[in-house]
Amino acid sequence: MAKIKILSEEIASKIAAGEVVQRPESVVKELIENSIDAGAEAIDIEVKDAGKSFIRVTDDGAGMTEEDALLAFGRHATSKIETYQDLENVSTLGFRGEALYSIAAVSQVELKTKTADEDAAVYLRLEGGRQEEVSRTSHANGTTIIVKNLFYNTPGRRNFMKANPTEFRHIYQTVSRYAIAFPEIFFTLHSGDETVLRAKSATVRERLDEIFGERFTDSLVAFEEDYDHLKVSGFLGKPEYTKRTRGEQFLFLNKRYVISKAINHAAFSAYENLIDKGDFPFFAIFIEMPANEVDVNVHPAKLEVKFRDERSIYGAIRSATRSALVKSDLVPEMGIAPDGARFVSRTTTESSRGGIVPVTFNSKPSQRYIEDERIADAVDPLFSLRFPQNRTAPGESAEMEGGSMEDSGDIIYQLHNKYIISQISTGLLVIDQHAAHERVIYERTLKRFAEQGQNTQQLLFPISLNLDPADLTIVEETLPDLNLMGFSIKIFSGSTVVLDGVPVDLKPGRESTILTEIIEDYKRDNDLRLTPREKLCKTYACKAAVKAGDYLTIEEMESLIDQLFEAEVPYVCPHGRPVLVKIPLLELDKKFGRI
Ligand code: ADP
Ligand code: MG
Repeated sequence: MAKIKILSEEIASKIAAGEVVQRPESVVKELIENSIDAGAEAIDIEVKDAGKSFIRVTDDGAGMTEEDALLAFGRHATSKIETYQDLENVSTLGFRGEALYSIAAVSQVELKTKTADEDAAVYLRLEGGRQEEVSRTSHANGTTIIVKNLFYNTPGRRNFMKANPTEFRHIYQTVSRYAIAFPEIFFTLHSGDETVLRAKSATVRERLDEIFGERFTDSLVAFEEDYDHLKVSGFLGKPEYTKRTRGEQFLFLNKRYVISKAINHAAFSAYENLIDKGDFPFFAIFIEMPANEVDVNVHPAKLEVKFRDERSIYGAIRSATRSALVKSDLVPEMGIAPDGARFVSRTTTESSRGGIVPVTFNSKPSQRYIEDERIADAVDPLFSLRFPQNRTAPGESAEMEGGSMEDSGDIIYQLHNKYIISQISTGLLVIDQHAAHERVIYERTLKRFAEQGQNTQQLLFPISLNLDPADLTIVEETLPDLNLMGFSIKIFSGSTVVLDGVPVDLKPGRESTILTEIIEDYKRDNDLRLTPREKLCKTYACKAAVKAGDYLTIEEMESLIDQLFEAEVPYVCPHGRPVLVKIPLLELDKKFGRI
């Protein structure tokens, strides 16, 4: 008995119809989906001319009997659903029974297919949807479909295709999406004589490494959360990584690649303040949930899905991704390549603050570096940090080889009045003093809004300011928030405001300029993701923080570091720049030929 049935008019009319074949990539996508639905363990794809003249997809799946093969190219011919109920619980990638029909209509198709129960394979040739030949041939268990000269009979659409590199890029993207969603399947992609992708069966992690380059996943944060009816897992790009890769986003719903503005937004918002605006983080997110809670029957060519309960899914994604980011060690490591200094993304993914925790400080007298230009010139520019020749870290001489220096307190330097250098158990930590202080003030100020406490120190000499109308409007609009932050401002008639109190933690000397600086920055910052309140905090933090160039005492540095490590997200400043960089001892050992 045939597995494939022709859907009744009634069900067919309930299925979102649409143009299935728009470009070579559409054909590749539909054929891959059919192979996956047929239970393939290996899928081999070959294209010529970016698929315009030739596409072949071969699988080792279930294959078709002759009867089914003849039915498969009919309209609404499918073995995957039969009733309206089935449509509610679709677990296959296909279900419309339209793909082979539509592909055959605009190309020259050859099919070779064999089930395990038969000895000979079926051969079928169609042209423009017309059956030209049915015979027997030889083929391993599984199916090969060849699609030649796409749109040969519809010149209008043929001319719509883009240049080969563009069309091939679409194909490659599609193949890699399925390769990520189905890591257990062996995918190969050939373009002409070239093998472009060869992804052996693997884990998602290995797949990502295969597609994006060696050890790519080392630079990602892994996460996995189980909720009722919902499992979310995946990998998130670390903030510092968005600068160097154009972030890519992969969202899979029950292994189907989908686009959801809501889910994307949830994931993006988890990065709030971790990345610059305009930067896109990499992520691959997998959502698994019962098929009947999601509507896949939307337009066939579009990838959007609808969730029955979008809000709770939004919440789940947002909390899973946010907590993964906050928990992980986001401190970038500075690797030292022989050809000079550069970042390598080799941040660890253990779910703690990794190597930066054991930092301990005490208040021994300052051990500031000794200026020595001769040494500075002789070493790698990255390492123009010079240590006093007379100092020895606890256990340094004895334990250097093993690299174990747990008792690493009291070692702290300010470098060029800009960076704080500190020893940690795994090497060296470099802290950008301005970025660190910004982060601390930013979080503290946000907290103030929640606590609504008294945060003002009165000024002995109130400062009167003349503001232009635009600036005055900003002050008026943000006055309640400015008050909560600790600013006490009186608005007089005309354009005069009087500042008679500032936040308690404002560094003395900044009182007269801070308000106008905040207004200036507030005006310039058009990051639409931030609420006015967050924007205010961000500009205040930036203006109130110590600057590069400010001298800090040991006590100030210690207190700054203590506060930083109490922050929720110590790794990046509110602008998304890194606060800390780790230089592993291992890298130094390599540099000095010790290992
Ligand atoms: P749908 O996938 O929506 O069912 P298609 O037009 O893509 O519709 O395919 C029609 C039918 O042909 C499928 O339901 C399936 O039974 C059969 N078929 C297509 N491709 C394959 C394949 N590679 N291996 C086995 N059967 C296939
Ligand atoms: Mg299909």
